[in-house]
Amino acid sequence: MTTEKIKTDTLIVGAGQAGVAMSEHLSKLGVPHLVLERNRIAERWRTGRWDSLVANGPAWHDRFPGLEFDDLSPDSFAPKERVADYFEAYAKKFNAPIRTGVDVLKVERNVGRPGFTIETSEGVIEAARVVAATGPFQRPVIPPIAPKDQPLLQIHSADYRNPGQLPEGAVLVVGAGSSGVQIADELQRAGKKVYLSVGAHDRPPRAYRNRDFCWWLGVLGEWDQAAMKPGREHVTIAVSGAHGGRTVDFRGLAHRGMTLVGLTQSFNGSVATFQPNLADNLARGDENYLALLDAADAYIERNGLDLPQEPEARITFPDPECVTHPILQLDLAEAGVTSIIWATGFATDYSWLKVNAFDANGKPQHQRGVSTEPGVYFLGLPWQSRRGSSFIWGVWHDAKYVADQIAIQRSYLEYRDLEQREAQTAPLAHKTTVSA
Ligand SMILES: Cc1cc2nc3c(=O)[nH]c(=O)nc-3n(C[C@H](O)[C@H](O)[C@H](O)COP(=O)(O)OP(=O)(O)OC[C@H]3O[C@@H](n4cnc5c(N)ncnc54)[C@H](O)[C@@H]3O)c2cc1C
Repeated sequence: MTTEKIKTDTLIVGAGQAGVAMSEHLSKLGVPHLVLERNRIAERWRTGRWDSLVANGPAWHDRFPGLEFDDLSPDSFAPKERVADYFEAYAKKFNAPIRTGVDVLKVERNVGRPGFTIETSEGVIEAARVVAATGPFQRPVIPPIAPKDQPLLQIHSADYRNPGQLPEGAVLVVGAGSSGVQIADELQRAGKKVYLSVGAHDRPPRAYRNRDFCWWLGVLGEWDQAAMKPGREHVTIAVSGAHGGRTVDFRGLAHRGMTLVGLTQSFNGSVATFQPNLADNLARGDENYLALLDAADAYIERNGLDLPQEPEARITFPDPECVTHPILQLDLAEAGVTSIIWATGFATDYSWLKVNAFDANGKPQHQRGVSTEPGVYFLGLPWQSRRGSSFIWGVWHDAKYVADQIAIQRSYLEYRDLEQREAQTAPLAHKTTVSA
């Protein structure tokens, strides 16, 4: 460890999309800052996700305002490496002061003087402010019900790369949000027998009447929704940009041979128990799907838009056997299941941030990213200010707000009273006389 000691106004921790956006806005406002990233820029897009992943939103939407994916059709879905390259190029465009390969180990408020002392793997930094831009999805979560002592490969979706990684045999994918459903689909296409455990979900159409759902959520104001609808707190969103972008259709997957089951409840030895809520979960997903079609139709009508009718979007597959006669218990050994993929989400990890900005459950306490600890800011949190906050386009807008708040604080601190102003402008000789 070197003893280098750096001083900066604002330290940004993390150089994913959030850190890059934050740096851009601070640069525009002339706020001196430094970004520290323990790996590479946008590392999670490079090595934290499966090989075939493409962006969930089209290239015209899932980007920052200042740069397009010039090598891609705007309606295509950028492969994950291309997304990482994009953020690297973006950072280069405005010369973002990013130092990679530096781990932030501890942030503590200074006592008796302003600012924070930051311990890093490369030395100590002093900063007036800190922005935690370490991402909404830091620590993979596998629920405690996961069976112990069973001869199964069990991995989180964050560690899944491709079908070749799994042993011969069937697989149970737990969780049917965007990750779970895409991984299950890939495994089935690779010839595996797949059981997919489906909980509560939203399931927007990929596109409707010639507009992608990202467009619909935009014009209908849903990305800007300020808070989750009550009762939808644990509802995941099932969308996919894979194979050119298709609507996630659980019944369609079942008709291709996938076996759907309800929410995974428990394990006893090799026997898995599923809640009897599969049909209900699908029905609520359908409701969400149809509500978006209705809202889109109403929007088209109200604005007199010339977009083609699409009645076939309302035709659904009949309920497959696994829905009409749901499996409530499955002996994994008998069914030949040799692996489980837990697509069960992520938690945050702020163990390095030793400040008073968290509630009793360790969740950041903040308003639109401005935390309860003066000088500490968060960025990239789910629902930080709106539904789109943890996504590419949303974090850019949140970063703008947080940067503004930092600039406002700086301008207050730049205030000088009359005596201080006079002292600043007075000739040196006069100053000497006054202080003598
Ligand atoms: C499978 C998956 C697919 C997704 N697809 C899309 C999509 O298509 N479109 C979309 O808009 N959103 C998508 N998202 C959501 C979101 O855009 C991504 O999660 C994105 O990576 C979040 O960016 P971020 O900068 O907030 O966090 P991250 O990308 O996680 O970046 C945080 C960075 O902080 C660094 N870091 C953490 N702790 C420290 C420390 N102590 N010191 C130094 N560095 C540290 C990490 O190394 C990391 O590089 C997806 C998410 C997942 C999980």
